[in-house]
Amino acid sequence: MILKEVIIIGRDIKKCHPELQIKAEKLVSACKGQGLITGIGECYRTVEEQDALYAKGRTAPGNIVTYAKGSSFSSHHQWGTAFDIYRNDGKGAYNDSDGFFSRVGEIGRKLGLEWGGDWESPVDKPHFQLPYWGSTTEGLKGKYGSPEGFKKTWDNKKITETEVEEKMEKVYNSVEELPQWEKGTIQKLLDMGYLYGDENGLGLTETAVKVFTVNDRAGLYR
Ligand SMILES: [Zn+2]
Repeated sequence: MILKEVIIIGRDIKKCHPELQIKAEKLVSACKGQGLITGIGECYRTVEEQDALYAKGRTAPGNIVTYAKGSSFSSHHQWGTAFDIYRNDGKGAYNDSDGFFSRVGEIGRKLGLEWGGDWESPVDKPHFQLPYWGSTTEGLKGKYGSPEGFKKTWDNKKITETEVEEKMEKVYNSVEELPQWEKGTIQKLLDMGYLYGDENGLGLTETAVKVFTVNDRAGLYR
């Protein structure tokens, strides 16, 4: 069973809501962990892109693929709150003959995403969205008016997990991981029994290592 046509527009997840970006990344990696190789397909759609999609099967060739007109802002894709996944294991982007998309849907649900496969009509198995504003976009429209207004509320959520990790201090767990100029001091403190790690290693922050090294230079450890 083929779920949908392959339509390539708006594939930039960076244009989506910050939380959705993180969840999309988590979904792809969690799926990979279970042998389900996926890619992120459609993400954010402009009014023009949504209109082009709406025209399909109506005023343009092809089958009908959406019920949402661009100007109506009634697709979550226009609000940056939805993305679609595709199958990326070479067996066909939307091939669901082995229940691939239901397994991905299950993982997405666990990550707190609303899954289009749970909808009655239209069932949209490749589709995931943030659940906070309801299945339709009425809640978003009522609260924020337009996607532009909604996006203005994203600024305070811009820090992604990667950035949080980058802000965290580096931790060294073995002498080998240390910069050359700090290895001597830490090895010395280990040899002297002043320092010892646990089963996970030394657990020394960058700051701690610097302080030990400076103290050593000042002659504190003899
Ligand atoms: Zn979708």
